[in-house]
Amino acid sequence: MSVQKALVIGGGISGLTAGAALARRGIDVHLVEIKDKLGDEGGIGLSIMGNASKALATIGAAQACVAAGMPADVFTVRAPSGKVVAVPPWPPLGKPEWPAQIGISRADFHRILTEAAIAAGVQVQCGVTTRSIEQGKERARVEFTDGRSGDYDLIVAADGIYSKTRAQLFAEVTGPQQTGLAIWRALAPRPERITTTQLHFGGPQGLVGICPINDENCYVYCMHEARPGERRDPATLHEQLREKIEGYGGLIPGLAAQISDPTLVSYRPIEWLLIPAPWYRGRVVLIGDAAHANPPNVAQGAAMGIEDAVVLAEEVSSPGTFEDALARFMARRWERVKLVVEVSRSVAKNQVEHTPGFDAAAEIRRASAVLAEPY
Ligand SMILES: Cc1cc2nc3c(=O)[nH]c(=O)nc-3n(C[C@H](O)[C@H](O)[C@H](O)COP(=O)(O)OP(=O)(O)OC[C@H]3O[C@@H](n4cnc5c(N)ncnc54)[C@H](O)[C@@H]3O)c2cc1C
Repeated sequence: MSVQKALVIGGGISGLTAGAALARRGIDVHLVEIKDKLGDEGGIGLSIMGNASKALATIGAAQACVAAGMPADVFTVRAPSGKVVAVPPWPPLGKPEWPAQIGISRADFHRILTEAAIAAGVQVQCGVTTRSIEQGKERARVEFTDGRSGDYDLIVAADGIYSKTRAQLFAEVTGPQQTGLAIWRALAPRPERITTTQLHFGGPQGLVGICPINDENCYVYCMHEARPGERRDPATLHEQLREKIEGYGGLIPGLAAQISDPTLVSYRPIEWLLIPAPWYRGRVVLIGDAAHANPPNVAQGAAMGIEDAVVLAEEVSSPGTFEDALARFMARRWERVKLVVEVSRSVAKNQVEHTPGFDAAAEIRRASAVLAEPY
């Protein structure tokens, strides 16, 4: 095994998974998170698709997600009026062991991943980041903002879409780009009996949905076209979202009436990123949103970061040289991630533009056929 000691930069979904996966393979892992504490800020909830559950099972975290979240094998398609049009299956990417999809609160998901990382022996340090990284042939020397320093065989940069590590070491790479789309999300009480994601296609917005995340709550979301740099008044986010989803029927009016706290509403322009392979320089590897990000239409952004983390841990703990391990990592990740970025961009754009004849289901089937294969 070419790696004994690793540093993970960033305690988000990808970084915590990487920490847990590396430590479970006997590697000494130190994780630094720039914020004062671990946890997600305001994203409300997300869907863990079956391929992500498979990867999470390798760090012992999948069952806890099933227990904390709302697992489902189907979703519900509705017309803008709210009329149920179909109840198709989600692509069965986690079968036979895992549900096709789990709606979960981001707070619960972070808690589960943090527990998995701590249980595996990861030393987590918050409120600290790297000051400099000096690449050596066998190890990299890192100086931290708290004055300490350390030598590491591997540095996993999981510091998100605006990765400072990427900016330092991959200076020629273009950063994230606007998709021309934006998404609203709001926490709301889960309507009784609603246990599956509800997707309203058509109508004035690109997509209006409801995702149950546990017995108590769901989140309502709405995606539409947006001008780059468009800003929203944070004090009235609830009113602005209510306006956006006005006219949609079914469960939406009842939920809209309960969206009354602007701090439980998030608005964000959607960016995308796919940096060219390889995602490593010397001893440093970028994973998760630091290397790739996509619109959430196929719910695979976090899933790809989780898979990156698990595959990287597998490869660097296998026999052989460090260089060969990273080359195998890249070979396993490139086509799969590229497909997810391409398909989610195309589905998002065409859904929002209501492109006549665009077959979103066929695009998603194309990605799912690949994602159903082992990562
Ligand atoms: C609207 C929306 C909906 C989504 N829905 C889904 C979904 O349903 N399913 C799905 O699979 N994916 C979904 N995604 C994608 C998913 O949220 C992201 O892919 C995922 O959160 C990325 O995790 P990450 O750990 O790579 O990066 P981040 O979540 O950005 O975490 C990076 C971490 O690094 C820390 N950090 C940053 N800089 C430094 C530094 N210099 N030093 C130390 N620490 C640092 C940050 O504080 C943060 O904790 C969605 C995304 C959006 C925007």
